[in-house]
Amino acid sequence: MILDLHTHSVRSDDGRAKVDNYCQWIRRKELPLDGIVLTEHRQFDDESDYRALEDKYGLLILKASEVETDYGHVLVFGVNEDLVRAFDFARIDNPLPEVLAGKRVVMVDDSIVRGTTTAPTVEMLRRAGAREVHVRIHSPQMKFPCYMGVDTGRRSELIAATHSLEEIRVRIGADSLGYLSQEGLLAAVGREEDGERRHCTACFDGRYPVDVPLDVDKFALERG
Ligand code: SF4
Repeated sequence: MILDLHTHSVRSDDGRAKVDNYCQWIRRKELPLDGIVLTEHRQFDDESDYRALEDKYGLLILKASEVETDYGHVLVFGVNEDLVRAFDFARIDNPLPEVLAGKRVVMVDDSIVRGTTTAPTVEMLRRAGAREVHVRIHSPQMKFPCYMGVDTGRRSELIAATHSLEEIRVRIGADSLGYLSQEGLLAAVGREEDGERRHCTACFDGRYPVDVPLDVDKFALERG
């Protein structure tokens, strides 16, 4: 099942579409989604009933929340009555311990490039009281530099190019670590059609869509 875990409707201050419009858009674009999770800002919407829309569009519509903390925005899933009673979703600068103390936490990030920001984030979650921290990355392992404009650095700096999965897990201090497979990524964004590659996957598999100067890195011009 493929869900968009981070969506906003007009109930959020930066939301532009009603949930109905969002569902229409998913169907019109034929996006490979089975549903969405509404993570409205600073609130948990326990009033709206989207069951009619679920039936109309054949989509699962779940509810979560996006709260603001001293450490940045945090998506809160699995909201139940106890949490709604105990927690002020509207408060800015929510202290993370109220959310994390004693919990098994799954931290989802888009990538691990050098690994230098992931470890401090895992450590911060532990300091805030998380009992376990499981890291899940929604891209495959980044093992090759990007020559198309994304600042990924040299190959030797890419942690997945030089470390095994277990070594990376130990380096970032997580209880477990998992990546999305390349097949899973391509299934999520739309597979190749007519045998033609539609997506660049070079930083995952080293298959560059154009000839690239493998012996040149991003500092070549600075060095003259
Ligand atoms: S997928 Fe291609 S363009 Fe995108 S970051 Fe990786 S190498 Fe660069």
